[in-house]
Amino acid sequence: MLRRNILSAILLYTVLFSSLAFGQTTTVPTVYTAPKETIDKIKDEGLKNSQVMQTLSYLTDVIGARLTASPNMKRANEWTRDTMTKWGMQNAHLESWGPFGRGWSLTGFTAQVVSPQLIPVIAYPKAWSPSTKGAVTSEVVLFEAKSDADFEKYKGKLKGKIVLVSGIRPLTAEEKPLSSRRSDEALGKMAIAPAPNGENPNQFSPEMIKNILNYFNGQARQMKFLMDEGAAVMIDNSGGGSGGTLFVQGASLAIELSPNIKTIEDLFNDPGFQPQRKGADASMMPQVTLATEDYNRLVRMIQFGAKPAMTVNVQAQYHDEDLMGYNTVAEIPGTDPKLKDEVVMLGGHLDSWHSSTGATDNGAGCAVAMEAARILLASGLKPRRTIRVALWSGEEQGLYGSTYYARQHLGEIKDGKFIKGADYDKISAYYNLDNGTGKIRGVYLQGNALVKPIFETWLAPFGEMGAKTLTLANTGGTDHLSFDAVGIPGFQFIQDEIEYGTRTHHSNQDNFDRIQADDLKQASTIMAAFVYQTAMMDEKLPRKAMK
Ligand SMILES: [Zn+2]
Repeated sequence: MLRRNILSAILLYTVLFSSLAFGQTTTVPTVYTAPKETIDKIKDEGLKNSQVMQTLSYLTDVIGARLTASPNMKRANEWTRDTMTKWGMQNAHLESWGPFGRGWSLTGFTAQVVSPQLIPVIAYPKAWSPSTKGAVTSEVVLFEAKSDADFEKYKGKLKGKIVLVSGIRPLTAEEKPLSSRRSDEALGKMAIAPAPNGENPNQFSPEMIKNILNYFNGQARQMKFLMDEGAAVMIDNSGGGSGGTLFVQGASLAIELSPNIKTIEDLFNDPGFQPQRKGADASMMPQVTLATEDYNRLVRMIQFGAKPAMTVNVQAQYHDEDLMGYNTVAEIPGTDPKLKDEVVMLGGHLDSWHSSTGATDNGAGCAVAMEAARILLASGLKPRRTIRVALWSGEEQGLYGSTYYARQHLGEIKDGKFIKGADYDKISAYYNLDNGTGKIRGVYLQGNALVKPIFETWLAPFGEMGAKTLTLANTGGTDHLSFDAVGIPGFQFIQDEIEYGTRTHHSNQDNFDRIQADDLKQASTIMAAFVYQTAMMDEKLPRKAMK
């Protein structure tokens, strides 16, 4: 799931189809339900013979972090392709999209306080950070600038220094549990939520544009100043987490954004927002995020006049050989002569951030989608439509993999007109799982009321497993938006939160040990059943009509 600082509220829509609007169709298809024995077969395979944890363990423990365009991402693409082939899926292949930009991997990293005493710290470089010039040992300076005018007082004082650019982030006792599940009350509220009003938040309001420019351009001018002054390393405070957890994403740049930014697409395409752009390292300095307890202590030491020094060594490698991104795609061919050219899709994003192994974001969703397909194969079921698993990349930098897929296969706007792609009329639905390790509690309908009676029937056998809520509300930040944006039914399941927001999402603790096995088994089973039911209907799922 994608979320980036102050953008969290606005990243609700994907970037390419902002001018499309949808109403509701009027034709209601008949509700198909598979016989109870079939659903029982799916349950049996999914709950008793599950391989979802083995799949996820290899993906996270052995392959590891999967930053888009990195060597690990390539390994993950190839391994998922080969694994699905081994299971008997067909047409497993990698689909290129892009160009995305360069890969990045760490070849060496150390950071510790070396004076006035040795203090090991928890730290991680930002993705696409340039390397330091070898190991840098230097005084740590606190840079406090409320406005550009405050830069002056640091002039001539930063050469070779390690610079702290955040303030203290006060921590309070963790009174709420780190892990939670959705209460009946919260689910009840979701069930009666009204359909979305159709407004497209992709377009920034003048107020948002002002805030975005202020925030990013302030950061950019600050880094430009630090670079001009010859500072060696920039360190910021983790924006969340405590007790050993830090949150870290992509590097910032010393490039101001274009003042003409109007949409999310403009922002994603702006050079000031793309550390992955080839050559962007010329406009970046080495940058590291520190866990809050360590960071706060350094600030307090400086305030006492203790003059701490650190040794920081960031050694990173850029991968410029191939600037394209890749999605992994594989199929279970349909068996009905009339319907086998139609497709039901499912997936999640295979890329992750870099400071852990992307277990909950979103190794879990990929392992579940793969497992759902494996369950159907192992159950010997013969879906009428073709079932296609897609594991996206570039999601964390802007839903790129699925957005390009939608452009290539579903259609795009040319000269103000939507031109259908080859698969536009063939895809019945896309099911996405990308909200962490939590089990499925229901489905976000994205305002598509016509699917409600169908999904009610399909959820019924899973009510006792906790999945019974349908909400007309939208949810954002995941790859289903790339389908929903062009009017193809695209759904993200409602999931229990567990530790997603508090501990794992984009943190150094997004690892296999935070995964709940029973939750993933439940999710795989339900996803398999939904995909199978969709593949067996006489008609495609009803779509929202384009206005
Ligand atoms: Zn994410």
